[in-house]
Amino acid sequence: MATTTSRETASPEETEALGEELGRRLRIGDLVLLSGELGAGKTTFVRGVARGIGSSDSVASPTFQLVRVYRGGIQLAHVDLYRIESSVEMRDLGLDELLDQGAALVEWGERLDDVVRVARIHFDVLGDDRRRLTVVRDLVR
Ligand code: ADP
Ligand code: MG
Repeated sequence: MATTTSRETASPEETEALGEELGRRLRIGDLVLLSGELGAGKTTFVRGVARGIGSSDSVASPTFQLVRVYRGGIQLAHVDLYRIESSVEMRDLGLDELLDQGAALVEWGERLDDVVRVARIHFDVLGDDRRRLTVVRDLVR
């Protein structure tokens, strides 16, 4: 079972603010998968999440690195699977260890294969500056 909620934003700043809200609530072991086309706002959202965990590290899309780790009140792993052709397993990314140490957000998260308990956020482009974020959260652990 899952719960779904959606929110619309009208600027990158509003999307960052939603991310910041989430960042303040993240706990060790939390995994959030982000999906949506290029430019939909996934990295913008992560920038807000990093602020929400109290990190002053700069957030960039980890397209070439696959994983970047930000330090804050808790650790945040920022994964981007854009370059992964089909799908990848958690252990191949070292994601289990990263989740022992903190929370993780995964761009192109639909390419992650073997997730159990997870929240998903899908980003739709509604217009130049308008985005809809649809959050689906698993209730079963
Ligand atoms: P993604 O990581 O999904 O490819 P980015 O966050 O890197 O997307 O880029 C989103 C782009 O869209 C940025 O240039 C940002 O300024 C712009 N943008 C415009 N409106 C919004 C909005 N409401 N939310 C997020 N980004 C927005
Ligand atoms: Mg991105």
